[in-house]
Amino acid sequence: MRFAAYALVGVACWTVSGPAIPAVAMLARAEQMRPSVLSHGRSDRSLELTTGGGAILDDAPEWRASLAQAMRGRHGTAVVLDRDTGRILAVENPQAAMRMAVAPGSTIKPLTLWALLNAGLIHDGDTLACPRELRIGSHDMACSHPALAQTVTLQSAIAYSCNNFVARNAARFKPGQLGEFLRKQGLAQARGASTVEQIELQALGEEAVRATPLELARAYARLSKHAPKSIIEGLQAATQYGTARLANIEGLAGKTGTADGRAWFVGFTPEVVVAVVLPGSSGGADAAPVAKQILAPGGVWVRVGADPVQYLTTEEYVAAALAGECNDFRSDEALKAMAVTIRTCAARFRGRHHKEGFDFCGTTHCQALRLGAVTDRERAAAEATAGELLWHEGKIAAAYYSQNCGGATEAAVNVWPDAAEPYLPGHEDSYCTRNGRLKWSLPVGRSELRDALRRSGLRAPPTIDRVEVTRQSPSGRAVMVMLSGHGESRFVTASSLRFAVGRSLGWNRIRSMFFNVRRDGEQFIFEGYGAGHGVGLCQNGADEMGVTGKNYHEILAFYYPGTAIGQSARGFNWRHLEGERVELMTTEPQRDQHLTQTADSALLQAERLTGMQSRLRPLVRIYPTVSAFRDSTGESGAVAGDERGRVIRLQPNPSAQTMLHEMLHFVLEQNAAANAPRWLREGLVAYLAGDERVPPEVSGDVRKYGRTAMLAWITRGAPPSGL
Ligand SMILES: [Zn+2]
Ligand SMILES: [Zn+2]
Ligand SMILES: [Zn+2]
Repeated sequence: MRFAAYALVGVACWTVSGPAIPAVAMLARAEQMRPSVLSHGRSDRSLELTTGGGAILDDAPEWRASLAQAMRGRHGTAVVLDRDTGRILAVENPQAAMRMAVAPGSTIKPLTLWALLNAGLIHDGDTLACPRELRIGSHDMACSHPALAQTVTLQSAIAYSCNNFVARNAARFKPGQLGEFLRKQGLAQARGASTVEQIELQALGEEAVRATPLELARAYARLSKHAPKSIIEGLQAATQYGTARLANIEGLAGKTGTADGRAWFVGFTPEVVVAVVLPGSSGGADAAPVAKQILAPGGVWVRVGADPVQYLTTEEYVAAALAGECNDFRSDEALKAMAVTIRTCAARFRGRHHKEGFDFCGTTHCQALRLGAVTDRERAAAEATAGELLWHEGKIAAAYYSQNCGGATEAAVNVWPDAAEPYLPGHEDSYCTRNGRLKWSLPVGRSELRDALRRSGLRAPPTIDRVEVTRQSPSGRAVMVMLSGHGESRFVTASSLRFAVGRSLGWNRIRSMFFNVRRDGEQFIFEGYGAGHGVGLCQNGADEMGVTGKNYHEILAFYYPGTAIGQSARGFNWRHLEGERVELMTTEPQRDQHLTQTADSALLQAERLTGMQSRLRPLVRIYPTVSAFRDSTGESGAVAGDERGRVIRLQPNPSAQTMLHEMLHFVLEQNAAANAPRWLREGLVAYLAGDERVPPEVSGDVRKYGRTAMLAWITRGAPPSGL
């Protein structure tokens, strides 16, 4: 059991408030409130379900808003349930949610495997070498996962949706046995399959079973509380790296499925259960990212290379763009300045690829993204500035930036006349030239240049004798160029000349507009400074500013004079407090001042309890409200805090106990072997922190093997089998 006893959600810890009433009793109560009357609410398309006892649609406007936003224009059906009570928090397309009984496809697999475990027909630790090919009668049911290096386990069968593992084991069911189990979990339309072929197809959600989105959501609520740990681990693995990985948010475990032209995702957090079904050809590509958006609203849709369009939270986007645009930065403050700049661009230019069905591409056309290569340092820069945007007179700024200004930034008006903004002036940048100016040169043959110009439709003399920059912007960048030869002179704009050369000889050969041209025999030599358009923030200068000790506020004020760093709709005014070994961020420095000391001593105590050292300086962020914590972290409000890399995020007024719990994770995670199991890490932290809820198997093991031995399993990995 994962959530009922204790959280195994990454390192998100469910320590604040569990269900006060035992889950089983709650569920029984929810079941008594089955709807008897159904009516269609007109204003919010929400469902009014009444029973003898009253409405079971909770008033949850936040959930309704994020559900409506994520489902807009998708012609799909979705439902969000309170995981503990089974109450409907929000629903899209209520008639279908209640009545559309369709093949559940692979979303049935965790239920099938639960039935097999329950009946003693399989055991944790069973494996199968998957041949991938599979025919059941006339059906081609080959696995869609790639060839796997290892044999398939129960967990990886769920994570990768292995048809062979499920179907072969399901062949052991007696006729009618699986159908009966499924009906008991609330799938009323599961039939009693009798032949092996039928049973196998039922086990894969193809035949002999139909379910409405609401029924499946309820079945998953039950599963989340009562299924064995291995099933829950499989569902966590599915969202972390398996077929549901486009729904990769902290705390969400779930499964995708595809059947009859419909794409499914069903999953749960400690707080809610979500079921999404859309017209589509892949649960993983189509439904999973929509579920992610429902749970973590406010992010952006991106397309990176040939990957399917996917949804990123704002801070995931910022971190991925830092990895794409700033991976050679030396200064952390400059990285923070870029985090604010990138986030501001994302907010201002969102929907740039609207017509293609997403917000941003992953190249420098928008902002370069390297999703798989984000470092802790980049994640920390995003986190340290979370929610912060650049504003000018109540509007989000157009925060252009470029690689190297060559010693003077360019006014936007000289590059894009309709993008003139007072906060984008041209000015000298002595930081940029502190270690010398970036110089480049490009030789272009005389006839090569003429051909390039002609190919772009520019009129050039038949032979070019001279090329001269005849007009410059105040910063010194070329504006107009004269080409002379054969007794005639032609003028072309410097930007169209750069475009023509780029098209013929390769983009970015003329690296900036900061150039002059001289002739050398049969060649023209373009010689210039800097790289990029030079408008707004200069990445090279910003990094130098950081290296010389300027903070990110000073860097942004230098490059975007007159703007203010403000907060997004749900942002806050963060202040930094320094402890001895910790950094603390809060919106209420008065209230939280004392917490730097709490954090410092918790870190010390965590090191003492584990006998391990922290190499990092933790950044502890205290959110002003529970809902702010939930919105910003994507964690359930029932999670007291979480810890990722250097950053520890906490709800307001954390107890010393919570602080110790998170610091134990912080120290342990730095020292943990890659294969140290989550349940052990979480369980041992709960034990060491003296939490109320320590999983019995962990306290049992501590008594049996001793604390030191168990800590060694974490640092060296691979605990003995059977654990
Ligand atoms: Zn397989
Ligand atoms: Zn783009
Ligand atoms: Zn510069």
